[in-house]
Amino acid sequence: MKAEIVSIGTELLLGEITDTNASYLASQLPLLGIDLYWISQVGDNQKRLVEVLKRAWQRSDLILTSGGLGPTEDDLTREAVAEMLGEKLEVNTELEGEITKFFAQRGVKMPQSNIKQAMLIPSASALNNNQGTAPGWWVEKEGCILIAMPGPPGEMQPMWQTEVLPKLRLRFKKAIIFSRTIKTFGLSEAAVGELVSPLLSSTNPTLAIYAKADGIHLRLTAKVKNQSEAEATISHNEARIKSILAEYIWGVDDDRLEALVGELLIKRGLSLAVMESCSGGLFSSTITDVPGSSAYFRGGIIAYSSKVKIANGVSPKLIADYGAVSPEVAGAMAEAARGRLVADIGVGITGVAGPDELEGKPVGTVCIGIDDGKKKKVVAGRYPGDRARIKRRATTAALFELKKVLVTY
Ligand code: ATP
Ligand code: MG
Repeated sequence: MKAEIVSIGTELLLGEITDTNASYLASQLPLLGIDLYWISQVGDNQKRLVEVLKRAWQRSDLILTSGGLGPTEDDLTREAVAEMLGEKLEVNTELEGEITKFFAQRGVKMPQSNIKQAMLIPSASALNNNQGTAPGWWVEKEGCILIAMPGPPGEMQPMWQTEVLPKLRLRFKKAIIFSRTIKTFGLSEAAVGELVSPLLSSTNPTLAIYAKADGIHLRLTAKVKNQSEAEATISHNEARIKSILAEYIWGVDDDRLEALVGELLIKRGLSLAVMESCSGGLFSSTITDVPGSSAYFRGGIIAYSSKVKIANGVSPKLIADYGAVSPEVAGAMAEAARGRLVADIGVGITGVAGPDELEGKPVGTVCIGIDDGKKKKVVAGRYPGDRARIKRRATTAALFELKKVLVTY
């Protein structure tokens, strides 16, 4: 079973949009155990589109296209598929009725150009689009399947989920590809790779390592027949990774650190405040990405300059003695945030985002303080990258340390 994705649209070739449809579809195919062999991009040009489709039809068993189903002249996917298969486009009265109704419900007359969207060829059946006017096409002929979906991701993804995926599942349920992602923070990609190196040669499950904004992810992937076999195939290596990387692991799969921290704060009935320097508000922004964070997040002070740190309760002597980027000051910032904003737990973040060193401390130095009124925890680390990445790492480091503190309560 060879699958191929064809993304259609001149905007893609001009670099105006990125091909997120292809990456979305590529991430979906493993769930069906279908191997993806090629991804192509082609502009809104019928000749070249037919060329690409012909090649795909010859070398692949399943072709997924997105784009070019709109009503305008440069939307050519239907025409190209018809030409490639030597079939004739005809208006389907049922589809015509649906599209007319779509416009009528919005109080407008259907523009004549939209009639294109009611067309089918004999080998095609329509796929419902509940987000727009363009139906998709399911084309089946000579043992090959071509599925044409609209370009806007807001239309393509629902169509894929509700119309296409269930049909494909019925056909290709022989093997599934199951993944488990283990998320870590605090070790470099190379260090993680070295620690788990004995597992990297395994073929089922395979193990891959990815550096992400929130740390290093390890993904175990198994090719199996069903869910219970998946668990059995993965569990041994998963347990080994968990014992090797123990304290560096903060979550799995879709877990987000800020959401896990939020859940723990709610569970323990604790409130949170922050004073951030080098992260410039990113910690507050990230915490408030979580719905319901107002239940525990009191707020934050962006104390970018020493003056503002001092004005908000950090001792000037501490800054003079140790420097603004120091574990001592991070701890004092946490304590001050907690006091000023009347929270149970205060977090302090200070560091050197670069590009120049500060107080003799190298770029990427980050100090985190956490204060709960009884205990103070301070940690210092050093992270690679440009300003944006260091701000992100500082935020992740603070969330990571905070989570470690919260689980001990
Ligand atoms: P429409 O009816 O909106 O014209 P369409 O099916 O003809 O839909 P296109 O005209 O090719 O699709 O693309 C419409 C919009 O959908 C693009 O402007 C872009 O925003 C988005 N889009 C198209 N293809 C992709 C893609 N491969 N990845 C991400 N977005 C895409
Ligand atoms: Mg279009």
